[in-house]
Amino acid sequence: MRAVLATGPGQLTVTSVPDPTPGPGEVVVAVRSCGICGTDLHLLAGDLGTDRFPLVPGHEPWGEVVDAGASGYRAGDLVAVDPSLHCGACDPCRRGQGNMCQRWAAIGATRDGAWAQYAAVPAANLHLLEPGFPFEVAPLAEPVACAERGLRRLNPHPDQPAIVYGAGTMGLIMAILLDTRGVGPVTLVEVNPARRALAARLTAADVRAPEDAAELKAPWVVEATGNPAAFEQALASVARAGTLLVFGVARPEATAAVSPYRLYADELTIVGSMAILHSFPAAVDTLRRHAARLAPLVTDRFGLGEAEAALALVRSGETIKTVLTPEEPT
Ligand SMILES: [Zn+2]
Ligand SMILES: [Zn+2]
Repeated sequence: MRAVLATGPGQLTVTSVPDPTPGPGEVVVAVRSCGICGTDLHLLAGDLGTDRFPLVPGHEPWGEVVDAGASGYRAGDLVAVDPSLHCGACDPCRRGQGNMCQRWAAIGATRDGAWAQYAAVPAANLHLLEPGFPFEVAPLAEPVACAERGLRRLNPHPDQPAIVYGAGTMGLIMAILLDTRGVGPVTLVEVNPARRALAARLTAADVRAPEDAAELKAPWVVEATGNPAAFEQALASVARAGTLLVFGVARPEATAAVSPYRLYADELTIVGSMAILHSFPAAVDTLRRHAARLAPLVTDRFGLGEAEAALALVRSGETIKTVLTPEEPT
């Protein structure tokens, strides 16, 4: 089959590789599309520490089951794939906190993923997309599952204001999901003017530059940039007794200033949210119910052979969700 193969940090080739062979409990999926996200850029640069090259990247696939094995799925079923691989045996896994798994692994990171015509994945990672599902939003299943997990951590009340810092893919998804839950008004704070214009078109949020949001306060605040300065502004904007969700991925060595007095005196809560935990079914349901609002976030599609161009577009920041669409399997 055709696949995008990362052979080392910064080294990518589109080539022919053997078709994947499913292990016990696994199925083979013909990939309809697979997204590219910031995590992939880190992985390709070699700074995730996975040092698992050669690797077929791609952790946001959906597609058609072609070899169901003994899974109970049928050939022809359309499915979205949760990339998380939790060992099930370590202490965090036994406590139900698989995203903290001590043997953390993921499809498209520690084993071959789905920037390819086919992917072999555990049947336990599949989520059926029923006939009639709005497939135009299927590429968003993985990022929306991350957002659903984040919203559970934030646990916002409806009819109260929220502020989201960062109008990247995840910030936009957060702003839309908060709105669909009746949380609002939602303000979206974004540094980049082009992204502000995009955000104003695609969300119902009040979109502002950071300097125009300095006085804002809300009980529900989401930091979706990973930038320490944005984190500090986000924390400053949490109203008394409010909660800050740290959702953006900062550099591991980054630090930011926190006032212990404010945490005490204003009874602030700070929560983090890492990847997906029990939130994939909720994401599939959200996509089905709010497809019309989420579909415009899938902005760009490329064939496997155009992977370099697709990655360049993602690096430029001038896209929301870019997906790779394999050629029709032969
Ligand atoms: Zn991703
Ligand atoms: Zn585990």
